Amino acid sequence: MSAVRVIPLQAGDCLNLAALTERGAPWRLQAYPAGFSLLLHPVHGPVLFDTGYGESVVRAMRRWPGVLYGLVTPVRLHPQATARAQLAVMGFAPQDVRHIIVSHLHADHVGAARLSARHVSSGPRRLRNAAGAARPEGRAPGLSARGPARRFRGPCPLVAVPGGAPDLAPFAQVADVFGDSSVWAVPLPGHAPGMVGLLVPEAQGLSVLAADAAWSVRAAREARPPHPLARAAFSTRRRRPPAAPSCARSCRPVPTPGSM
Ligand SMILES: [Zn+2]
Repeated sequence: MSAVRVIPLQAGDCLNLAALTERGAPWRLQAYPAGFSLLLHPVHGPVLFDTGYGESVVRAMRRWPGVLYGLVTPVRLHPQATARAQLAVMGFAPQDVRHIIVSHLHADHVGAARLSARHVSSGPRRLRNAAGAARPEGRAPGLSARGPARRFRGPCPLVAVPGGAPDLAPFAQVADVFGDSSVWAVPLPGHAPGMVGLLVPEAQGLSVLAADAAWSVRAAREARPPHPLARAAFSTRRRRPPAAPSCARSCRPVPTPGSM
């Protein structure tokens, strides 16, 4: 089986104060892209890791209570920038996408989760908790308990890295999402309940998909933490986050920066 190919994409962005997202940044508005990734799987076809913002989220922000999200975090989404529109340009219809793996349930990551009739989550138990516990950080405008959150499929249990798997260090517990060693999910706690990332062995090396690991490339490279006010939105409010894992030798980080 040939390797999966990862294509980083963006569906819309939002405006936020730079100083909130990065220590030392100025108090001015800055655009933050809603990143997601298209995984071209040799067997399962196009697979999405998150979706970016979607039209349903933008519509929800025009009415209560989603309008509050729009006031705090103004969202910009051109009709041609949606995941649906970008997939169409690449020749994929919505029904071609049979699997959407979600990192967490923030609006900029599941805004187009209605794109597909079938969803995969790599941490289903915790994601269900996040969707059903009415915790603000687990909610997104337009995403109700009767919406896509109920269609997350499971279980996809964490297991010890099996023999014969690629070097996934430092991760010791992984979930083989498709059961073919092509996409590995790993827990990435801290930003939101049930948060997961992906390790994808590509032809040129191992790609790490870590949504919202940082809100800018500079913040990640220079280890600039967000403002303490921004930590109030995190599920784990430790002042010092866990040390970033050192990647495997052939690691190729694919940043998917996003918004709060
Ligand atoms: Zn988030």
